[in-house]
Amino acid sequence: MRILVTNDDGIHAPGLEACVRIARALSGDVWVVAPESDQSGVSHSLSLNDPLRLRAIEGKRFAVKGTPTDCVIMAVRHIMAEQLPDLILSGVNRGMNLAEDVTYSGTVAGAMEGTVLGIPSVALSQCLGPDRRGDDAFTTAEAHAPGVIKKILKEGIPAGRLVNINFPALEPNDVKGVKITVQGKRDQNLLKIEPRHDGRGNPYYWIAFERRRWTSEEGTDLSAVENGLISVTPLRIDLTDEPYMTRLAAVFDKSKLTD
Ligand code: MN
Repeated sequence: MRILVTNDDGIHAPGLEACVRIARALSGDVWVVAPESDQSGVSHSLSLNDPLRLRAIEGKRFAVKGTPTDCVIMAVRHIMAEQLPDLILSGVNRGMNLAEDVTYSGTVAGAMEGTVLGIPSVALSQCLGPDRRGDDAFTTAEAHAPGVIKKILKEGIPAGRLVNINFPALEPNDVKGVKITVQGKRDQNLLKIEPRHDGRGNPYYWIAFERRRWTSEEGTDLSAVENGLISVTPLRIDLTDEPYMTRLAAVFDKSKLTD
């Protein structure tokens, strides 16, 4: 099995090395194509106005000056075009990709692009906690990901689907199990604008996250990791909401433009 590893935290991220070790536990044929710099929050973006610079580091390891999506396209359409990967692993992200995070995540987008290109793909993220913020946080993902991925591969990943896995912020031995979940929703939006001033007194701004508690519904990705479980959420590229589609179709009956 040929595995491509990518991420959004960049080629120097400790989580990427954890992902390489996870991939090596599954196969001897592991390739890495990752962004030169941190691309967290870029979602499924493509670089269309700048050229992609490709840096061959050594053997099967490459860095791309671009987004995770750029990396996967570069790998599948160029670097590995003669023998495509059988599996793409994106991560291990530094921090959770739960609920609406999925729509911002470059990590999830790396797996989305793999899915778009017809390759089974899995996104991996490690939740962080007050006591688990250092590089050793990834030991939890590393300990449990190979077994979870093997089970998923045995069942198979259908076309157009990807799998989003989040590991709880616990020591590997304290993890309570695996839960198959739905994408959740936080009961509040934690994003805010943080104003600052530069050396000349001019204002500038950071997008920041408020540290507030949220409540989560049972059965969601949020609830799983809160309860010490590994969250496994099957996602699909087709975002169509069928119940709402049916309602709208009734409103726009018979293609008439006016009532
Ligand atoms: Mn990231």
